[in-house]
Amino acid sequence: MKKYKIYVLFLILFIFLSLNIIKASNNKLPLFGKVIYLDPGHGGLDPGAMYGGIKEKDINLELSKRLEDRLIKMGAIVYLTRNGDYDLSSIYTNNRKRSDLSRRTNMINKSNCDMFLSIHLNAEDTNTWRGAQVFYDDINKENKKIANIFQTQFKRSLVSKRKIKKVNDLYLQKRIKRPGVLLEVGFLSNANERYLLKTKTYQEKIVNTIVNSLLIYFNDV
Ligand SMILES: [Zn+2]
Repeated sequence: MKKYKIYVLFLILFIFLSLNIIKASNNKLPLFGKVIYLDPGHGGLDPGAMYGGIKEKDINLELSKRLEDRLIKMGAIVYLTRNGDYDLSSIYTNNRKRSDLSRRTNMINKSNCDMFLSIHLNAEDTNTWRGAQVFYDDINKENKKIANIFQTQFKRSLVSKRKIKKVNDLYLQKRIKRPGVLLEVGFLSNANERYLLKTKTYQEKIVNTIVNSLLIYFNDV
């Protein structure tokens, strides 16, 4: 009987300590429980911008997957609107682009996520423009604040001289009620930036910058 009591006592102690260890390790994860929706732009038949054999859709997806890995390790719950080379349009549609964007919008709106990030690359006729830039729609009052945080980090870490831009004509951005922004992380039309965007090192740098921006935002909310 005495032995039995000691076993029970040890068992209770063990459970108590285990629960505390789990609690402590959860507390160390800086994005624990945050739901983040990543939206890699384009896909499938829609390559997005194309320069020098590089397709925007591919880099958008690579960046999103790197970001997904990092965020999961930090305790976040991460969703992607696509995780392969395809678009989301209905096979019955006669407006493929609109159908694709409409489905992405619905997925994100239904998710109740804490933040969504659309990942794109920019392109202009002039090849001199460069730098990462944040676009936001003020449908959600948090979006301007989020845009400012990201743009400050883009300036600091990616040496971007661009400024945040308010938009009200982007199909997806103006329909998503959850907080979030569109990140154009560089110009494919600029030869130097195009070269960088292909490299693992620069992609990691972009991912680090996005992660830091998220930490700044969520530590402040
Ligand atoms: Zn794009």
